[in-house]
Amino acid sequence: MSTPINSPVKPLKNCGKCGLCLAACPVYKVLKEEQASPRARLQLIKAFENNTLESSALLKEIISKCLMCGSCVVACPSGINHYEQFMDMREKMVKDLGETPAIRSLIYLLARESRIRRGAGLARLGQRWVQKLTPTWLANKYCLGNIPLKQFPQLNLLPFRKTVATTIPPQGIKKGSLVYFTGCATNYMYADTGISMVGILTHLGYEVIIPQDQTCCGIPLMFHGAVDEAVKNMILNITALGAHECDGILVDCTTCGAALKDEYPALIKKRMANDPQKSLEYWEKLASAAQKIADKTFDILSFIVAHKQDLVFDKTTPNLGNIAYHAPCHSRNNFNTLPLVQSLLRELPFINYTPTLDEAECCGGGGTFFYEHPEIAKKMMDKKIHHVKAVKANIWLTDCPVCRINLAGNIDKTSETEAIQVLHPVTLIHDALKKGPLEKEPLEKS
Ligand code: SF4
Ligand code: SF4
Repeated sequence: MSTPINSPVKPLKNCGKCGLCLAACPVYKVLKEEQASPRARLQLIKAFENNTLESSALLKEIISKCLMCGSCVVACPSGINHYEQFMDMREKMVKDLGETPAIRSLIYLLARESRIRRGAGLARLGQRWVQKLTPTWLANKYCLGNIPLKQFPQLNLLPFRKTVATTIPPQGIKKGSLVYFTGCATNYMYADTGISMVGILTHLGYEVIIPQDQTCCGIPLMFHGAVDEAVKNMILNITALGAHECDGILVDCTTCGAALKDEYPALIKKRMANDPQKSLEYWEKLASAAQKIADKTFDILSFIVAHKQDLVFDKTTPNLGNIAYHAPCHSRNNFNTLPLVQSLLRELPFINYTPTLDEAECCGGGGTFFYEHPEIAKKMMDKKIHHVKAVKANIWLTDCPVCRINLAGNIDKTSETEAIQVLHPVTLIHDALKKGPLEKEPLEKS
């Protein structure tokens, strides 16, 4: 039986070295080397904990060559939670050996909302100048990891949260209130996702509350061993989200959802045991607030499936053609949404949904994996593009912003056969809804 990714950590000695996790691991499938397998990483961690192996650049490299996708956790019959083991080991490696300047800069940015905002503003200016001044052949040469810089999405003109009211009324009779955790990607890059989220939730009769003081969920910080910074972000988010009475907390990204649902309660438990500076009472109060948030957190696609009978589509919506879906790892492994999304896509009257052969395979985005290990990420993407072309899709849906960057960034937009639009499923659904009088026209964005 598979282990849910949010199950408690079982001791490493439980690993029976059966190898079932190898077939599930996207990195192992590309490299086919034992040292790139989840099983090998666990044995190295065991040796490190038993003091028979020291920190080294090679050990850090092996531990980091992992997408933190959680597929090994789901495949393991012995109940090992590799995810938590790898997270702890990353923290130890960074403490012993430090991080690269690029990753240190990313940690610095994500640790404060004001820095993310300034960084996004500067990056947007840079994007405009690069596009204006750089000839195409040159712009295509410069890549961030496996993605040409030119193919990165346009950053939002203004942060999404600054363009909407904190409380948005429902269309029609109010059914309840929902808090929307937008995440950084929607706030700074994919405003189309935010607009569609609000459009769908208000269409369903919910008041939408968007706390302005929310910040990065902290998962990218945790993945890079910056746990102190992640704890600060977690406390800010628990305070921001917990300040509103609501019937649910909605995420458009299941990685943010995994932070709210699984990581915050786990992180607090760890901190509680090792923090001499704060009282036990402080941590217990925080743990109770985090648990309330975890219990109320839903990913948007499961929420839509649960409310699909209340969606009213515009009957004049034309057929949008062949649609493929890429299932992000956290959607599959933390929220188990793949069967729900497949059934939803099959039922939408205005699309022809055809699953690709590797719909449930990782794309290699993995937070910063595409930047740190571009050659592995490229091999994964090449395979995915081959399969999406095989079903002749004109729209490729995915509900993770990093996957969206990676899929869209690797599509050759100059080639007719590869001119596939990559969207969050909410945009497709929102565009087809019958619009109420309060709604604006959907935002155009590729
Ligand atoms: S599947 Fe679990 S028990 Fe089997 S080798 Fe992997 S970690 Fe060990
Ligand atoms: S988390 Fe994913 S990439 Fe990392 S070892 Fe497990 S299956 Fe492989």
